[in-house]
Amino acid sequence: MNKPNKFPEQEQKQPGKERKMRPEPEVIRASYKGSDKLKNKVALITGGDSGIGRSAAVHFAKEGARVAIVYLSEDKDAQATQKMIEDEGRECLLIKGDLKDEDFCKEAVRRCVDAFGGLNVLVNNAAMQFPKDSLNDIDSSQLRTTFETNIYPYFFVAKAALTHLKDGDTIINTSSVTAYRGSDHLLDYSSTKGAIVSFTRSLSQTLASKNIRVNGVAPGPIWTPLIPATFDDVSDFGQDTPLGRAGQPSELGPAYVFLASEDSSYITGQFIHVNGGEMIGS
Ligand code: NAD
Ligand code: MG
Repeated sequence: MNKPNKFPEQEQKQPGKERKMRPEPEVIRASYKGSDKLKNKVALITGGDSGIGRSAAVHFAKEGARVAIVYLSEDKDAQATQKMIEDEGRECLLIKGDLKDEDFCKEAVRRCVDAFGGLNVLVNNAAMQFPKDSLNDIDSSQLRTTFETNIYPYFFVAKAALTHLKDGDTIINTSSVTAYRGSDHLLDYSSTKGAIVSFTRSLSQTLASKNIRVNGVAPGPIWTPLIPATFDDVSDFGQDTPLGRAGQPSELGPAYVFLASEDSSYITGQFIHVNGGEMIGS
């Protein structure tokens, strides 16, 4: 796929729908070959219906995993992801619900384990964002929603998953470049993404003795439904990166495979910065 660096005007509401995007994002490179890196593994991916989560889900299936995906309401996107996974000859369980609710987080883990007999890879990835120009524009209701959506469920789902994760299993948390460089229009969102970095580092330390590794991915601007659903003007999205374009979800999936698999066996508490070349500390 030729990776676009200009996007047509388009409008959506959150949660955005992948099938309504123009152009539709690239989920996985046509040339990507799996090599059983996740054979017989079970993965649970929040926000796995679309965008970065969908790419991780399809790459995991290519590598031999069975995948449960949690999503808020986008049935058609979720069913399309399920089909992509089934086309790889793997099973996919769809779990619809609101991760702000801790009981639902527990239920999601339970349903995954009931269906597949265990859990080896948890990807915490669901999020929303509500761009605002100043702190004064962020009311307490938005602040609560952002934190309750973007960081609380990472705790809830990880906690429920811990009962099942064993030696060699992994947790991967999606943060953002905004955690590292800040964002003048995403004050609350970038704060939750910073919390995710600290959560990842801290949890990695509590689980190291069990050899359960906890890492994260910090994406830069990636062409996913979140973008047309939250930004008014997407035409130049990603052009201010050194590589001069937005990333595609297909450029994220392999990072999740690496962190989920034995290839990263000596790495924990770390982030991979898939951001088009922005120089930020890690
Ligand atoms: P996306 O819209 O495709 O994925 C987000 C998903 O989160 C949605 O599919 C939705 O179903 C799910 N979700 C949101 N609220 C939920 C809730 N309350 N309960 C259950 N599910 C819920 O967008 P994406 O860009 O692929 O986002 C994935 C992750 O990547 C997010 O953590 C986002 O912050 C992060 N990220 C994205 C970018 C980017 O430029 N797209 C940059 C940095 C970080
Ligand atoms: Mg979605």
